[in-house]
Amino acid sequence: MDVRLQISMVFHLDKCIGCHTCSIACKNVWTDRKGAEYMWWNNVETKPGTGYPTAWEDQGKYKGGWEQKNGGKPELKMGKRSSRLLNIFHNPALPRMDDYYEPFTYKYEDLFDSPEGADQPTARPISMVTGKFMDIEAGPNWDDDLGGSPVYAKNDPNLEGLTPEQRQELFDVERLVFFYLPRICNHCLNPGCVAACPSGAIYKRGEDGVVLINQEVCRGWRMCVSACPYKKTYYNWSTGKSEKCILCFPRLETGQAPACFHSCVGRIRYLGGLLYDADRLVDSLKVDDTNLVDAHRDLILDPRDPVVRANAKKNGIDERTLEAIERSPVYRYVKEWKLALPLHPEFRTLPMLFYVPPLLPVMAKTEDGVYDAANEELFSPIDKARLPIQYLASLFSAGNTDHVSYALRKQYAVRMFKRLETVGDVDTAVVRQALAECGMDEAEAEAIYRLTSLPTMDERVVIPPSHREEAMAMLDDNMWEQKGSAGFGFREAPARGA
Ligand code: SF4
Ligand code: SF4
Repeated sequence: MDVRLQISMVFHLDKCIGCHTCSIACKNVWTDRKGAEYMWWNNVETKPGTGYPTAWEDQGKYKGGWEQKNGGKPELKMGKRSSRLLNIFHNPALPRMDDYYEPFTYKYEDLFDSPEGADQPTARPISMVTGKFMDIEAGPNWDDDLGGSPVYAKNDPNLEGLTPEQRQELFDVERLVFFYLPRICNHCLNPGCVAACPSGAIYKRGEDGVVLINQEVCRGWRMCVSACPYKKTYYNWSTGKSEKCILCFPRLETGQAPACFHSCVGRIRYLGGLLYDADRLVDSLKVDDTNLVDAHRDLILDPRDPVVRANAKKNGIDERTLEAIERSPVYRYVKEWKLALPLHPEFRTLPMLFYVPPLLPVMAKTEDGVYDAANEELFSPIDKARLPIQYLASLFSAGNTDHVSYALRKQYAVRMFKRLETVGDVDTAVVRQALAECGMDEAEAEAIYRLTSLPTMDERVVIPPSHREEAMAMLDDNMWEQKGSAGFGFREAPARGA
């Protein structure tokens, strides 16, 4: 057993209001500079939709992530190292500027400096690439709230598994349904970006699993941009290097939540440590798609298990860190309650950002073809939901509807349980049955309710202590050299992934 620590995240999608405050917080802190204008390390998409960059989920086009072939080790979809090197000067599997958008600002001076006249002055848009006037035709959230849905939402790759009738229902005006999907780098356990980099510039920090690009080593080959199936590395045209979300590690090291977590208006973001067994990582990727979520969960270890604790200590994970992991809200959502699921596990990067699938759009049902939120049953059956379970399963469980269905039923049971307690207009027997069907007792329902609805910042974000002083003491004289390839705390970059 090779026990490692990973800083992990949960986003509770029922709570996201699509305000983009997280994106702006990240932009102001990290990407408000030359060459990074078009980058949104944190972005928020409307689903169904094609997202940012356009159709990033379409790996037929972008060749991101890993493929499982004949029960062997997964291989990068971009091909073997030799074929990747052959394409090094011409890599066609890259998003172009049109797939992101042409960054723009406005000529604000005209509002103040225009001569007096009969018309109000306007600030015309200017390209931040050419400096010339332009017509804005795209943006990072161009399809917000189903804006332009025939162009965007209808081309969502996750709709492929739905029947024509289901698709049609989804876009009937009376039944339109959408939710928000905030995205950052998943700080994966088997990151495609790390494996694809010909310069060895990308590494996973030994002490907490944060994935970083060493700017001194990066040569701008952009293989990471193709290999990341989530399109969460970006090329800076000004520096000639690639960049990505750093999970605000300078904030984490000083005990502060990342900027997007700190600023989140809906308080949807949870962060905490997880322990996992690196020895079982490759085997967990060899299973077929329907079993990927279970295999992913099995990698995560119980921090209270004495054997796990002993092996964690052998790897330099100390008592105070283990105490923090015991309080990890991510462990509760992912492992204990099985409510949070990985985004597109079939990409096989083992993403360590998990999502609680949204119940809100499935709460209302259709009756005689009309959307009805105030039906007699109060909590309408999930199977008659406006948003087909298959759609959510395509996003969060590689098509296995059981995982999504369980997470929704459990949230539904918690709501009924609280409704009985606070309003009292639900049948007690029905509530008991709903809890029993999910194998949940009242204490667990109450705990889920509290961590979902009333958590303090300290409960949402539990950052394990970084112990930099110990990590530095463990290193030899070549500390700075080591830092750019393995982080502090390990003498060699840990071998990770397939
Ligand atoms: S999401 Fe995963 S593969 Fe993509 S940049 Fe982050 S760590 Fe790398
Ligand atoms: S700040 Fe929070 S609620 Fe607002 S869009 Fe971002 S994740 Fe959603």
